[in-house]
Amino acid sequence: MPVSAIMSSSGTYIYDLHTHSNVSDGILSPEMLVSRAKLHGVDVLALTDHDTVAGISIATQAAASCGIQLIPGIEFSSQWCGRNIHVVGLNIDPEDPSLVEAVMSQREVRLRRAEAIAERLSRQGIQGSLAGAERMAGGAVIGRPHFARYLVEQGVVSSVETAFKRYLGTGKAGDVKVEWPDFEQVIAWIRQAGGIAVLAHPHKYKLTRTKLIRMATAFVSLGGQAMEVQCGSQALAIAEDLSRIATALGLCASCGSDFHAPGQKWQELGAFGKLPPSVRPVWELWENSNEF
Ligand code: AMP
Ligand code: MN
Ligand code: MN
Ligand code: MN
Repeated sequence: MPVSAIMSSSGTYIYDLHTHSNVSDGILSPEMLVSRAKLHGVDVLALTDHDTVAGISIATQAAASCGIQLIPGIEFSSQWCGRNIHVVGLNIDPEDPSLVEAVMSQREVRLRRAEAIAERLSRQGIQGSLAGAERMAGGAVIGRPHFARYLVEQGVVSSVETAFKRYLGTGKAGDVKVEWPDFEQVIAWIRQAGGIAVLAHPHKYKLTRTKLIRMATAFVSLGGQAMEVQCGSQALAIAEDLSRIATALGLCASCGSDFHAPGQKWQELGAFGKLPPSVRPVWELWENSNEF
């Protein structure tokens, strides 16, 4: 069953509603992620691994033992108008049968994509990357960061960042186009599992404002209920603009670090600006439903 928050929305809690563990492309185990969140003062933590819920059960136990509220979540790879867009599901039931099926089908898509990435890299003279990325993943849901880590290990590039710049990022050899499920499908999966669909890091897609509004409007019309207004490190002006868009479209606002690993590129757990006071925080959707 999904965990419902029992805390009040007094605004004094620190919510980090977008994080990754090593069951997808994060570095820390779910338990280590929870302890680090505690250390950084997070009160309510959502684990939102890419296309998997494999870490939820362990994270929930770890959270209970250190007094953190764990919100079961997921970050689905989706598409809108041919672009790869991420949709976070919050407060989902990780055991919901259609969600479990969805996770299996996403895993298949990722495996087929990994084979295609390896094929492309081999044409660039880089051999053995499928086995290498699988080894880096160590049973986790495979993604481009695992290929990036293999390229670093092999000395092909000096950093994960450079691996994306040269081989895996948009327009590069390893950027294999995939028919991810559309908004309608992933929103249905999330809602079926009792969760809230959240449009992830809208600023990261580098859309024009008009396109962004078009995307968010489509998201709302298909049952999406919130949008990340604060995500990772972003300028205050961006959060303010996203807040205006969220409010105009009737979307609640979410916030999260998108933490993957301790280090410079990724934002620390709980470390991002406050939600502007004008928005309706997404946690009201589950905290209020608890009042009855
Ligand atoms: P995938 O889910 O396999 O498409 O890989 C996307 C993931 O790669 C993102 O969730 C990030 O964790 C990571 N990523 C994307 N761009 C970069 C980058 N420039 N440097 C490091 N990691 C990146
Ligand atoms: Mn990631
Ligand atoms: Mn994402
Ligand atoms: Mn993420």
